[in-house]
Amino acid sequence: MAEQYIFGTPLSHTAIRVMLLGSGELGKEVIIALQRFGVETIAVDRYPDAPGHQVAHRAHVIDMTDGEALHGLIMRERPHIIVPEIEAINTGALIEVERAGLARVIPTARAAHLTMNREGIRRLAAETLGLLTSPYAFASSLEELRQAVEKGIGYPCLVKPVMSSSGKGQSKVDNPEALEAAWHYAGRGSRVDQGRVIVEGFIPFDYEITQLTVRAANPAGQAETYFCEPIGHIQVNGDYVESWQPQPMPPLALERARHIAEKVTADLGGRGVFGVELFIKGNDVWFSEVSPRPHDTGMVTMCSQVQSQFELHARAILGLSVDTGLRAPGASAVIYGTLEDRAIAFRGVDDALRVPQSDLRLFGKPESFVRRRMGVALANGADTTQARARAKLAASRVVPIKEALLENETPGKHEPELGGLV
Ligand code: AMP
Repeated sequence: MAEQYIFGTPLSHTAIRVMLLGSGELGKEVIIALQRFGVETIAVDRYPDAPGHQVAHRAHVIDMTDGEALHGLIMRERPHIIVPEIEAINTGALIEVERAGLARVIPTARAAHLTMNREGIRRLAAETLGLLTSPYAFASSLEELRQAVEKGIGYPCLVKPVMSSSGKGQSKVDNPEALEAAWHYAGRGSRVDQGRVIVEGFIPFDYEITQLTVRAANPAGQAETYFCEPIGHIQVNGDYVESWQPQPMPPLALERARHIAEKVTADLGGRGVFGVELFIKGNDVWFSEVSPRPHDTGMVTMCSQVQSQFELHARAILGLSVDTGLRAPGASAVIYGTLEDRAIAFRGVDDALRVPQSDLRLFGKPESFVRRRMGVALANGADTTQARARAKLAASRVVPIKEALLENETPGKHEPELGGLV
């Protein structure tokens, strides 16, 4: 299925129109990459002034889990391509739209549907494709959960809502006494309180990686699989805090990682970037999850690759060629909100950028929470050790504050400077 697009002019009848479902920091970068090819972009999110809203041609606020609202918006905007950026979408509406030939869904509506729920993707990977995963079971009650752990999974284990991401509602359970609390915690952290969890045996991995995998057109116009260098990362409470590229790996483990990535992405099909999450111990590789879209740990590619994961996604979905090559060892470090307020300010941006070979992305989210990702620091180095130290240093220098104006500054005083080429 080779899609050939004629590139046109945005906001005219020749435009290629792309709708982003979810317009957070990842969607924002995809929108910017698309706009560089003159694509007309439509950003959708559940709240106003989301990062992607701020850079798209048009912005909409709807509940994307509401099938009717989603279908209605698609019919009004008539995008050629729909790019899901989040999991909490009414995928039934996407399947309908794809089936009716109204728009292409990236990578496919089925991929969006299977990966929105941990059960769909886990059963596909382990039971259909036969990939190695942690031992797992699903439970719809505390009693079922207890049975599953006691009859097989054992301790320690991880309990996660089937509908959740970024560690929400996830806990590690070391003994039977802690199981009940984990069950209730999962209920609170679930996107939709489905009362269903996955319980997984704990894998004592040496390190974990994201294998970014791109399905894009080869010179003959056919879908081919391309691999980025592996990305290493550190998660705290299931949420990424630091990532780097390349993660050194023994050749056999890398080969296995790519074999798994190839199998799972080939099954999901379509075109675009996939973030395949894997656990590594020696030469053993376990499949954990896959996102059929750019991955948060892949933000490092904005400094480490020739084409970032966002540019790769834009190119792949537009039927263009891709280059997954590494540019230089790099790292990313997350900047958290650390406070709860709207319209926060950031102190120390210039100090952060004085770290050699560093860069920043401040996402522009209208509201900060203590553990909300508000920005990311990027850095290159001679190797990933140096890049990581630089990225962490740069991130640590950015301090979220409540007041928009810095001490000793009067309103307007710094405006010309900020607007100019500092
Ligand atoms: P997830 O939301 O499933 O991607 O999990 C978030 C993070 O929790 C992973 O990146 C791992 O660091 C950790 N984790 C999840 N599942 C397991 C497991 N079965 N064994 C060990 N660590 C895990």
